[in-house]
Amino acid sequence: MSGTEFLRSDLQSLREAGLHNTIRSLDGPQGASISVAGRRVLNFCSNNYLGLANDVRLIDAAKAALDQFGVGPGAVRTIAGTMSLHTELEERLAQFKGVDRTISFQSGFAANLAVIPALTGREDVIISDELNHASIVDGVRLSRAARSIYRHADLRSLRDRLVEARESAARRILVISDGVFSMDGDLAPLPGIVEACEEFGALVLVDDAHGEGVLGHGGRGIVDHFDLHGRVDIEVGTMSKAFGGVGGYIAGSSELVEWLQQRGRPFLFSSAATPPDVAACIAAVGVLEESTELVDRLWENAARFKAAMSAAGFDLGKSETPITPVMLGDVKLAREFSRKLFEERDVFASAIGFPTVAEGSARIRVMISAAHSIEDLERGATAFAAVGRELGVV
Ligand code: PMP
Repeated sequence: MSGTEFLRSDLQSLREAGLHNTIRSLDGPQGASISVAGRRVLNFCSNNYLGLANDVRLIDAAKAALDQFGVGPGAVRTIAGTMSLHTELEERLAQFKGVDRTISFQSGFAANLAVIPALTGREDVIISDELNHASIVDGVRLSRAARSIYRHADLRSLRDRLVEARESAARRILVISDGVFSMDGDLAPLPGIVEACEEFGALVLVDDAHGEGVLGHGGRGIVDHFDLHGRVDIEVGTMSKAFGGVGGYIAGSSELVEWLQQRGRPFLFSSAATPPDVAACIAAVGVLEESTELVDRLWENAARFKAAMSAAGFDLGKSETPITPVMLGDVKLAREFSRKLFEERDVFASAIGFPTVAEGSARIRVMISAAHSIEDLERGATAFAAVGRELGVV
């Protein structure tokens, strides 16, 4: 008998509660449609916002990097040295974002785990939006700072927490928010957050994972979208969504980047991203700098799909971005809806329920991409309407 036998009943509990994830295996690359066990299905699940995950420019750059730099980084950068490729990516990202410097990590998750504990300690307070991403929650857990949570996107609640933090005589206050909230597609009220932080002398960190390559001029992100350049201390980015590859980064001042090179634990104790990953990300920055075409198409596609879905009678929640939640309420209904889309209509769109979203607010989350054609969007909306009628949702 194995020592992990106890997990059997835990897994069974997950199944009974409808919380057990099925992970589908893909036979080929990400794109507007994907191949799942030999079946071609319309892809409404990936964060491949701009269709770059299988773009020939990124693939060619990755292949060239393999020839020049090989497959692996060797060790952590402070020990094995840093490849010029990683430095090039950091410089290109800094230019693209309009910040002093950036530092790259293996993922966006690692970037949050690096920066939050590196900036805060016992004498400090972290104030965090209640719906922030799991990597922020975990980064906060790794810090010894006191934690304080404010109601989602609620500036009055944030200000109450700031008053309390000031009264506690905290050395440093760090306010953290997702830029785009990934389950609803709503935006953080960043101008109000920045104003409040300036008033209280607090640092601001925004996690722009779903804004990078999506919001702002040509996808420069949420700080550009709200024209807040120079007023957000720390931006967290990921290259695993719109940029089409994998990796994360922190953007900010020179001191911030130098400090993370000395004290960011995933930088110090985990090897760097691989050469082909990094080269693909550099190529993605190049694609974004060259033209706003893909970002523009992403927004056109999102507007087209949302209009068709609203006309069909679906509740799309409070999305302000290409993330399109189709609100269904009951988790079993959402799972059945997703199953029917997949099995009967060749549409791959995931159901999301508690604990990822609040109980009673289950949904199917549709991720729109610039890679979708008008026909894809129309076919998708038609499939939703048909299943919606069968299940009595619309
Ligand atoms: N932050 C947010 C807000 C995210 O949505 C994600 C990805 N789900 C991450 C960080 C982690 O990014 P990565 O996939 O690059 O680790």
